[in-house]
Amino acid sequence: MDTLIIGCGFAGGVVARVLAERGEKVKIIEKRNHIGGNCYDEYDEYGVLVHKYGPHIFHTNNKEVFDFLSRFTKWYDYQHEVVGDVYGKIIPIPFNLNTLMIVFGEERGQSLKQELIDTYGENARVPILELQKSSSKGIQEVAQYVYENIFLKYTMKQWNQKPEEVDQSVTARVPVLISYDNRYFQDTYQGMPEEGYTKLFEKMLDHENIEIELGKDAKNLISFDFDNRKIYYQGQEFLGHIIFTGAIDEFFDNCLGQLPYRSLRFDFEHYSQDDYQGHGVVNYTVSEDYTRITEFKYLTGQKISGTTIIKEYPEVYKDNRQVPYYAILSPENKAMHQKYADMVKPFCRFHLLGRLAQYKYYNIDGIVEEALALTKQL
Ligand code: UDP
Repeated sequence: MDTLIIGCGFAGGVVARVLAERGEKVKIIEKRNHIGGNCYDEYDEYGVLVHKYGPHIFHTNNKEVFDFLSRFTKWYDYQHEVVGDVYGKIIPIPFNLNTLMIVFGEERGQSLKQELIDTYGENARVPILELQKSSSKGIQEVAQYVYENIFLKYTMKQWNQKPEEVDQSVTARVPVLISYDNRYFQDTYQGMPEEGYTKLFEKMLDHENIEIELGKDAKNLISFDFDNRKIYYQGQEFLGHIIFTGAIDEFFDNCLGQLPYRSLRFDFEHYSQDDYQGHGVVNYTVSEDYTRITEFKYLTGQKISGTTIIKEYPEVYKDNRQVPYYAILSPENKAMHQKYADMVKPFCRFHLLGRLAQYKYYNIDGIVEEALALTKQL
């Protein structure tokens, strides 16, 4: 075996495939009993294709990423749209010019639209915290509506922090759009793997040079000799590269502290009716304890009678009985992560990759991009 990969999500899977095609023998060790990481999907007892760890929608502007993944799947042409339920009123999210007209009415909406275009330009993407800085009374009014009805309660539920307290990059993921585009993402390439993510992974990992061990915690197999800069795998010195994609704090027994994460609890519900909510995702931005409801059929395009939905309840991450879905990007937390990164830095063949190992808020395409970049360095 030339390279050892810890974790079988997109980070590990992409690196494995590229190295295997170069002729390297690769072993992936995965703690869970399935491949695909948090993108894993499966058919529930009613035959509906569901995402076990919450909705994952692929989108990218990176042609290399799109072309790479397209080798392992065809795409269902899904352009993701989200609506918000604001006291029973359904509005497009991100807040855009259609939302503006619904909320403020045509006449007032038109004058606000002109002001927004004059200030930010047509098709601009303006983060809510940016919009709030405007000194114009009209734009202030829009900002206040968006802040109070779209961001405040949802962000409190998701992060237990106000929008201005979370890292700015987080709320900037869902900017105010100065256009009539109702799509959640404006990326050139978007869609869902035609047969699901798990099938994509099966094809990507189907290579004679890739061996996968499921249900094994690498923590019990790998040890570090910090004094002599040596890494041991199953008691023997390991001289190949190790790509580590798990939670680094847990891997090292939280020796420098436990990194904070937000977790989620998911409630799946099945209904015998064919349609539950008329939309792929409804965000509950002013009410309910859950943040959003996803109706999977809309995302996957599956034609089946009956429908399965998922409600997402954010939770504090306490220990590894939960899934650490989101890094909490405060300066202190990033500094703690950096200490872990510094600790392993002397081991130049040990690489941290992915949402957990790098403590970052990556989308799928960001991870694939990083993974491809890493393979070019190895
Ligand atoms: N957000 C919000 N209201 C919404 C949608 C998003 O307040 O209706 C904020 C919230 O803080 C969220 C962040 O924007 O965590 C990023 O949203 P995104 O939909 O990208 O989150 P993800 O799908 O990654 O959970």
